[in-house]
Amino acid sequence: MAHTALLPESVWGNTLKGYPFLAALPEPDQWRLHSLTQQFLAAKEFYGANGLVITDQIAVDIAAQACLPVLHLRQGLGWYDDFVGIVVHPGEVVAPREFQDPAGVVHRYREVISGETMHRGPVTLSWQDVALAGGSAAQGYNVVIHEFAHKLDMRYGGEATGCPPLSPGFMGHAAAAIARTAWLGAMHAAYGRFREQVTIAERFGGDRPWLNDYGAVSVVEFFAVACEAYFVNRLRFEADFPDLMPLFDAFFRPGLPPPSSI
Ligand SMILES: [Zn+2]
Repeated sequence: MAHTALLPESVWGNTLKGYPFLAALPEPDQWRLHSLTQQFLAAKEFYGANGLVITDQIAVDIAAQACLPVLHLRQGLGWYDDFVGIVVHPGEVVAPREFQDPAGVVHRYREVISGETMHRGPVTLSWQDVALAGGSAAQGYNVVIHEFAHKLDMRYGGEATGCPPLSPGFMGHAAAAIARTAWLGAMHAAYGRFREQVTIAERFGGDRPWLNDYGAVSVVEFFAVACEAYFVNRLRFEADFPDLMPLFDAFFRPGLPPPSSI
């Protein structure tokens, strides 16, 4: 367990160097991220699993990326106040799974995962995948943002739906429920098109879409995968999903103009 209340400047510098989408943030945003990261480190507890020792660098790298989605949200880290623990494994995690099929038969199997999130529970991450996120930003891949996007999504009633809680007035909708309907409509439309592209690529050898095809699993995973891409490769994400851009900007950057370059 590590509880790092201080944020050494050399460690912060390494974090910015390691993740180009953080280094590319405008200076005021970097200061804001620095401050949020400090608060995050003071409020959360990191646990190393399977022998992993949590260094300052590991904690800061994860904290900084976790804070990126809430950087401009009014409640800030309040979005993450349903949990304290972050469990970090050295590599991918083999998770036992169980489900009951419609005939009542219980199937047990194991799944290899790079991260996992539970409502009111800890976030689990594979450090190997976290560490690769600097190099894989071009592909829009980021495991920390993925898991913390699920956290935002789960804030609406505990179950992820692909739509985080929206405020009344969101994108000009007077009532939050209407904003939610509009958001889900846009998400499901984009998800349906994406899933079709993935299916065509798999069955008929068509071009694979740029976005990670794990997003074709469900609209909930599509939202998390889309958030990854939005934060680490905004321009490419916008090229593929122009319809989602205004939604994401309205949610993640309320009242702010689009950034000039990320
Ligand atoms: Zn997921």
